[in-house]
Amino acid sequence: MAPSHAVRCCQRGLSWIPVIFINLVVCWSYYAYVVELCIYTIANTEEQVIYLIVFHVFFFMFIWSYWKTIISKPASPSKEFCLPKADKELYEKEEFPEAQQEILKRVARNLPVYTRTGSGAIRYCDRCQLIKPDRCHHCSTCDRCVLKMDHHCPWVNNCVGFSNYKFFVLFLAYSMLYCVYIAATVLQYFIKFWTNHLPDTHAKFHVLFLFFVAGMFFISILSLFSYHLWLVGKNRTTIEAFRAPVFRNGPDKNGFTLGFLKNVTQVFGDQKKCWCLPLYRPYDFYDEENMGENVESSHKNGIYCITWSVMKLNKSKVGQNT
Ligand SMILES: [Zn+2]
Ligand SMILES: [Zn+2]
Repeated sequence: MAPSHAVRCCQRGLSWIPVIFINLVVCWSYYAYVVELCIYTIANTEEQVIYLIVFHVFFFMFIWSYWKTIISKPASPSKEFCLPKADKELYEKEEFPEAQQEILKRVARNLPVYTRTGSGAIRYCDRCQLIKPDRCHHCSTCDRCVLKMDHHCPWVNNCVGFSNYKFFVLFLAYSMLYCVYIAATVLQYFIKFWTNHLPDTHAKFHVLFLFFVAGMFFISILSLFSYHLWLVGKNRTTIEAFRAPVFRNGPDKNGFTLGFLKNVTQVFGDQKKCWCLPLYRPYDFYDEENMGENVESSHKNGIYCITWSVMKLNKSKVGQNT
């Protein structure tokens, strides 16, 4: 085995450590809540049953959205964005960046690409050898170009982008609800232990830690969740929030916004009843006919929000993932 291959395998293995850590904490919280709190500590059967039913609803939703975020393969640009063979050879032979740009410009003429680099050049990924669609960025960890890339998240060991952004936001929401529910129901037993109103058993330590860990995770997730809700409302990714996308007329941080409701719909889908579920709903209003009408009007029409490649994915690959 080549050393570089071994290093890559090693890195791939190590990248799962944060996910394993989260899962161990979740497994412990499940044991501590169900066994130590509900079975050993709570004496009232009615209270036990209600606590356990509600707990399992939050637990299930949290695990579902978490694993959907982890297992959703990042969406990459479709093959239309790769340079045709002849142009690729020309591009590679060319020594001058200006001449290379001319080749890219000629190819990009047939593509729905509206964003540029800071210097006004066509965005090209040398690593993947393709013209980057709008909102697409190369992730060095995944070693690929990812559509509507938000960020690479070590806690899910995956890129958060077009294919799983909804799941990621739901994962934050349900993990917060899970923590709030645990902290709220544990609080009275937490106080009872401190005031010596309950027997001094090993359950005491589990309950104490449950409260602290749930509180700590809630506080840390709250700010991240609020930030992502704000981004959803503005139709921005984390990358775009730090650096405004550059259009033909220059940078515009609001270049992708469609209005609040459409921005939310773009992430959560057009079926309101599925907004709270980690299921993908294809967007009806991003059909190719609409695109044809809007493409040459204001970029604020939002046609840039999702490009040709994404719409194609929307209709084929993403639809099959549900
Ligand atoms: Zn790339
Ligand atoms: Zn990545």
